[in-house]
Amino acid sequence: MTIAILPARLANQIAAGEVVERPASVIKELIENSLDAGATAIQITVDKGGVKKIKITDNGSGIAKDELALALSRHATSKIKDLSDLEAIDSLGFRGEALASISSVARLTLTSKPQHQDTAWQATAAGRDMAVNIQPAAHPDGTTIEVLDLFFNTPARRKFLRTEKTEFNHIDEIVRRIALARFDVSFTLTHNGKVVRQYRIANTQAQNAKRVAMVCGQKFIEHAIEVNCEHDNMKLSGWVAKPSFARNQNDLCYSYVNGRMMRDKLINHAIRQAYSTLLPADTYPAFVLFLQVDCREVDVNVHPAKHEVRFHQSRYVHDFIYSVCHKALLSINNTDNLFNEE
Ligand code: ADP
Ligand code: MG
Repeated sequence: MTIAILPARLANQIAAGEVVERPASVIKELIENSLDAGATAIQITVDKGGVKKIKITDNGSGIAKDELALALSRHATSKIKDLSDLEAIDSLGFRGEALASISSVARLTLTSKPQHQDTAWQATAAGRDMAVNIQPAAHPDGTTIEVLDLFFNTPARRKFLRTEKTEFNHIDEIVRRIALARFDVSFTLTHNGKVVRQYRIANTQAQNAKRVAMVCGQKFIEHAIEVNCEHDNMKLSGWVAKPSFARNQNDLCYSYVNGRMMRDKLINHAIRQAYSTLLPADTYPAFVLFLQVDCREVDVNVHPAKHEVRFHQSRYVHDFIYSVCHKALLSINNTDNLFNEE
């Protein structure tokens, strides 16, 4: 055997294995890029559960013509420069891999126009070296990324795709999760030519609650208590549902750390513990909770998909979440508990 460096496309396809599992994961990466670019309006258009086509258009900062090729290259990012940045991440992205990975397993076109540029430019990467082609295009300020035929060249991956309906449900779930994290951004989700979700910008707490009701259901909001508590450098805000709203599945468990959606064991554990004696066996609580901590206190570079984090003072964070939720739940009038309501 001789040792050889892999061609760029193949290396990117290997990296794609970590983050690009299905259309929904592409959409997560692309929306996060739009948010990092400061977009306030994001349109998501998909055909056939996202397998045929995914298109995300934003009104964010855009990418300059001479940086388009870099945006499509692996290990190229505008979000961190050195180790100290990595230790205090305040953006959703930082790995510089998403666009390179996605364009190695699909037909990706990137069209962008920063405000200071007169015209828009479009970039695609082709061939085993992923050489980037650039041509002029028409586009308003902002960026559109179109992803066609996901996994067309990686049949092993394609085999794991489920039905159009299942793939769309995953997409819908990602959009809902992100829409909960950013009340200050509008999102439109269109599937097979039909607008399926439309979340307008929310400016007031009442409008925030309305968006939560759109995502989690009116019943959730009706049964939820608002929490909002600050301690040291931590803040926990959001909604916890009364125990009477216990669910048979964990479909309304939404937690965020510094605006990033999470499936974090420590957070879930703290919340479950707050509910512990209040919930019937085999049921799940419902909550939408936002934890804000100093970005130096949390390591997001734990998992490529960034679903988990590591807190430097994990016990402290755990106990803070537990006590805020516990107090909120105890504040519910005793007559309003599990055994008396509905
Ligand atoms: P990362 O987000 O980890 O930096 P990506 O591969 O997702 O890596 O994106 C590479 C770079 O392309 C980003 O750092 C950013 O500068 C630029 N970029 C990607 N999407 C957008 C967008 N929608 N608007 C503006 N810039 C973008
Ligand atoms: Mg990114």
